Amino acid sequence: MNYFSLNNNSPKVTFKEAVIRGLAPDRGLYFPENITPIPREFVKNLENYSDEEVAFEAIKQFVGDTIPKKTLQGIIKETLCFDFPVVPIEDGVFALELFHGPTMAFKDVGARFMARCLGYFNKDQKDQEVTVLVATSGDTGGAVASGFLGVEGVDVVILYPSRKVSDIQEKQLTTLGQNITALEVDGVFDDCQDMVKTAFLDADLKQAKNLTSANSINVARWLPQMFYFFSAYKQLKLQGKAENIVFSVPSGNFGNICAGMMAHKLGLPVKHFVASTNINDTIPEYLKTGIYQARPSKPTISNAMDVGDPSNFVRIQKLVNNDITKLKNLFSSYSFADKETKRALRYLYKSTGYIADPHGAVGYLGLREYSKDKRDGMGVFLETAHPVKFLDVVEKTLGVTVAIPEQIQTVIDKEKKSIRISDYSGLKQFLIGN
Ligand SMILES: *Cc1c(COP(=O)(O)O)cnc(C)c1O
Repeated sequence: MNYFSLNNNSPKVTFKEAVIRGLAPDRGLYFPENITPIPREFVKNLENYSDEEVAFEAIKQFVGDTIPKKTLQGIIKETLCFDFPVVPIEDGVFALELFHGPTMAFKDVGARFMARCLGYFNKDQKDQEVTVLVATSGDTGGAVASGFLGVEGVDVVILYPSRKVSDIQEKQLTTLGQNITALEVDGVFDDCQDMVKTAFLDADLKQAKNLTSANSINVARWLPQMFYFFSAYKQLKLQGKAENIVFSVPSGNFGNICAGMMAHKLGLPVKHFVASTNINDTIPEYLKTGIYQARPSKPTISNAMDVGDPSNFVRIQKLVNNDITKLKNLFSSYSFADKETKRALRYLYKSTGYIADPHGAVGYLGLREYSKDKRDGMGVFLETAHPVKFLDVVEKTLGVTVAIPEQIQTVIDKEKKSIRISDYSGLKQFLIGN
């Protein structure tokens, strides 16, 4: 099984090369050459298999023979070390909670899976360490730091904008030590992102370092997110409620929802996908007008989705062979302003007792919008972060105090360690000097 670049101007590569490279040399995203549905009998009997067996069945063709079966099963076991419960909210509506991992954000699964794959690929080349370089506006950095902590042969360098991430997020990035270094940048997220992009194109660095990325453009971070959708389906099937499932996914870079659509391509019975966004509405606009117009991102209270040019959307288009009519049959996208998100947070709390986070609330709104005039089947919105990660907004909007979970408390008490840089030369110096 090979991957090709969606810019069509790079050699085909194996899963291993795709993971190590991140992005193809022509700057395109890697996409699997073949997608084979999993056996129908297997899907029909999904509830009789363990989550690990289901995950293995879903991912094995994408890994090919680059990782032996036993090793891959071990990686899956370590990746699925926490639950993704489907929680009933109101009649026919469920929240799929993806925040029970070590950093309480759904990116934990992808980060852990990728870290272990990279650790395996690099085990024979200890002399040639891989450096994972990642820019974060908050959640990605913590998940990557935690996922890669202690993985041999892999160094992780995280760039984050000084004073622009929450205290909890900053602690999650800066307190782990070992193979994780946090670079605190005088600037905004876009500055961090630009520095990372420049580094990937820098010939001197290419000589000195083996650099890769750890955002959802990397196939090893993107594909394991399929597990969520299989797990939700299995849980609902066990309750006899798996007919006509609609998934609403709070979306920023559209990696998570794209993984759900890949699961559907493999044969998972899903009726429809809703990509719910905040006012960064490039995709809802595209569906309305047929014109894709990337824009600078605007800040919102669901800031992990403040993305104006979602990188994974090209993969979604490829999944439907670039046919917008076909896309609209399976996929809708709606955008919501912060005011509506806060109203949804309040509604959910007052009428169901559920404390959502702003991202989950956007997901809930998308589900409501989609099923406004049709009420059949089951709606599942993905709750991508624990409300404690957006403490200010949630507590102010609801007038409640959110209890701090143990994972977070442990981190808050640790000491921050970061290296300050102000421009690209600072990053380069750091990378070459290490
Ligand atoms: C990253 C993130 C998202 C968006 O996921 P994409 O795969 O980029 O669409 C949504 N919610 C939270 C909490 C996130 O951290």
